[in-house]
Amino acid sequence: MSDLTDLTIAEAREHLAQKKISAVELAKAYQSRMVGHKDFNAYIIETPEIALAAAKVSDEKIAKGKAGIMEGIPIAVKDLFCTRGVLSTACSGILAGFKPPYESTVTANIFGAGAVMLGKTNMDEFAMGSANLNSFYGAVKNPWKRKKDNKDLVPGGSSGGSAAAVAARICAGALGSDTGGSIRQPASFTGTVGIKPTYGRCSRWGMIAFASSLDQAGSIARTVQDAAIMLEAISGFDEKDSTSAEMQTPKFEKALAVKDVKGLKIGIPKEYHSERLDPEIKKLWESGADWLKKQGAEIVDISLPHSKYALPVYYIIAPAEASSNLARYDGVRYGLRIVESADSLDEMYMKTRGEGFGPEVKRRIMMGTYVLSAGYYDAYYRQAQKVRKLIIRDFDEAFKKVDVILTPTTPSAAFALDEKPTDPVEMYLNDIFTVPVNLAGIPAISVPAGLSKDGLPLGLQLIGKMWDEETLFRVGGVLETAADFKTRAL
Ligand code: GLN
Repeated sequence: MSDLTDLTIAEAREHLAQKKISAVELAKAYQSRMVGHKDFNAYIIETPEIALAAAKVSDEKIAKGKAGIMEGIPIAVKDLFCTRGVLSTACSGILAGFKPPYESTVTANIFGAGAVMLGKTNMDEFAMGSANLNSFYGAVKNPWKRKKDNKDLVPGGSSGGSAAAVAARICAGALGSDTGGSIRQPASFTGTVGIKPTYGRCSRWGMIAFASSLDQAGSIARTVQDAAIMLEAISGFDEKDSTSAEMQTPKFEKALAVKDVKGLKIGIPKEYHSERLDPEIKKLWESGADWLKKQGAEIVDISLPHSKYALPVYYIIAPAEASSNLARYDGVRYGLRIVESADSLDEMYMKTRGEGFGPEVKRRIMMGTYVLSAGYYDAYYRQAQKVRKLIIRDFDEAFKKVDVILTPTTPSAAFALDEKPTDPVEMYLNDIFTVPVNLAGIPAISVPAGLSKDGLPLGLQLIGKMWDEETLFRVGGVLETAADFKTRAL
């Protein structure tokens, strides 16, 4: 048999069910591949004993005919999820050494479905970033290289470690989180599939908070089917999260059985066409629309007039919520505490927070505190909330006419580690196509669709109606087949 790490989740599950391979063999195959690819810095910690113990249990369950939907599948977990007794830091110095005494609901769900954890993945500190350059554990390297030079590229962010691990096949699939694009943008940069579900589909309990009204867990995988399997495993109501929806989780994988898009209307938002749009991205977007048309969909022009305000609105609301969420890191309860030369409690707080947080996190805390301050609340925060409502209304109107919206995922392909923009706002522009989706709470998937002239992967984004991930998987599956994206990073 070819290398076990070449199998998709669906294929591996088949092999396990037919007892052609064991879960222990599969876990070991990934572990030996991980040894050869440490240079990507995708994992901040590997958990080999936990993986092998879980794989053994999976083999027993398979033998007894009690396999879960992810039984024996080796996965990676973004370090944003609290995992019982295992380092969970959101890649921040302020949580250095933190091992939670509890398990996040999403990870509990996926382990309950049989998944085997290989380790925790690197990410931007507190999920703030688009390049994985803001991590306490250092940058992640994208497994892809571009033709014109041999420079190390960023994997995107903030789920950069998860996306790089999937692309390098040092896990079968990975958990990510998406507040403004952190699953879809790295998926686009690494030639992987990434889905952010509807807000409330997955519990946020035990997921280290960044911006609570935007954060959602989701999956990064090699295929649309694998992403669907993983999403099904992590979704579901949780009474521990008041924003988790009391809904039945659909059988997402079944949505893929419909292999056409006949009768569906696909919206193309005119506002996403700017003069500054890279011609190769524009071309790929047009190809995407053509493929779907050939498979029976109708292409409809739509308008999302307020989407031009999405980025400024996001960069008021997300930092505002972050400044409040991150107030809990004060050196008292957990993580870092700096007491040396601190003469008072206030000084201990200041020293701990001053040393524990990185520069981007500090920038967001300051922005957030400012927009929430008494003198500026009305001018910024309240105004942003009103515009957020208009952005939601735009999508509501659009979805009266169409079933799904098609856009590019990112405005460019992956850039080099040393091409980091000096202006933070330029970095924020990476999320121009993804943030409106989080503001509206609706689901979206990124599917690898083509290569840039430099030979780097580019993704297309499908945006769906609230609670309609099934149509996203159906259309995503058709897009995946049409794009026939077979190139691998290595
Ligand atoms: N890149 C965006 C930010 O820096 C989105 C991050 C995310 O989705 N977690 O805030």
